[in-house]
Amino acid sequence: MATTIGSGFLEAQPLTGPYPSGAPAIFIDQVARLGGKAGIVASVGNDDFGQLNLDRLRRDGVDVSAVSVSGDLPTGSAFVRYRADGGRDFVFNIKHSAAGRIEMTPAVEDLIKAAGHIHVMGSAFVIPGAADVIEAAIHAVRSRGGSVSLDPNVRKELLDSGNISQHFSSVLKVADLVLPSGEELFAAAGQSDEPSAVASLLDMGVSEVVLKRGRDGASFFGRDDTRIDCKAFVVEEVDPTGAGDCFGAAYLTSRRFGLSPEESLLRASAAGARNVTRQGPMEGLSTPSELAAFIAATPRR
Ligand code: ADP
Repeated sequence: MATTIGSGFLEAQPLTGPYPSGAPAIFIDQVARLGGKAGIVASVGNDDFGQLNLDRLRRDGVDVSAVSVSGDLPTGSAFVRYRADGGRDFVFNIKHSAAGRIEMTPAVEDLIKAAGHIHVMGSAFVIPGAADVIEAAIHAVRSRGGSVSLDPNVRKELLDSGNISQHFSSVLKVADLVLPSGEELFAAAGQSDEPSAVASLLDMGVSEVVLKRGRDGASFFGRDDTRIDCKAFVVEEVDPTGAGDCFGAAYLTSRRFGLSPEESLLRASAAGARNVTRQGPMEGLSTPSELAAFIAATPRR
């Protein structure tokens, strides 16, 4: 069943797509395209939408062995409505879909055993059972000396399900990197102004807070009052969906490849900006050479 937002939301709209999508899929595909070794825990239905996502992830080199294919539930889907004021609303069809079936299977256990880092998408906490899998994965990765990142990825349309803030605080206690955008910073930190929210995350033990600010760029905050601002690239925005996931993936992958926060922030900003120039949430994902060419050729604000 779809969630309705405001009056007339489900009136007929011109449609494009279907596109492979889902924040975790966009993120992990971007990691793989940048050369990172990447796997995803997810669940799809035995249908065309599930196949669309699996095909794209496989093509780009993501390990999909821990994606379960449900025999009786359809693949979760979402519609994005682009408003005239530049905002977006989402209609999700995921509550009674395969997406709600995340559990610890032998394939998930194997993927976790091979992981040196776990990236948690906050939206996963609306799935019953996902919190247990995430907790077990964090524990396993951490006990091997691995690292943890969190993108709060809070969609207002999903906030009624699950105790999101409680789940956030348990991940934040062990997270190395947090990548919020807009209000997510305040939701994650439980503070209502930027300096206090950032300080509170750093006090919790997070080493790097990277704020996504859309066309206003991005900022890095680290220990010892380190702050780096990165201006956004000048592009024509066609579709903003997926920018934050590409940005996060490029930042994390760059850091794991040993680049500095400053270089990683630049590559992340380029990945976010490139993605908004294409229609479809993961149609503008970047390879390393595409990022390098884009950075060399594109001015910043
Ligand atoms: P989210 O999708 O999580 O809300 P943002 O919209 O802030 O994230 O996008 C992530 C990053 O992508 C931004 O910090 C910025 O660097 C880049 N970006 C997003 N939109 C644009 C845009 N219109 N022009 C240039 N860069 C953009």
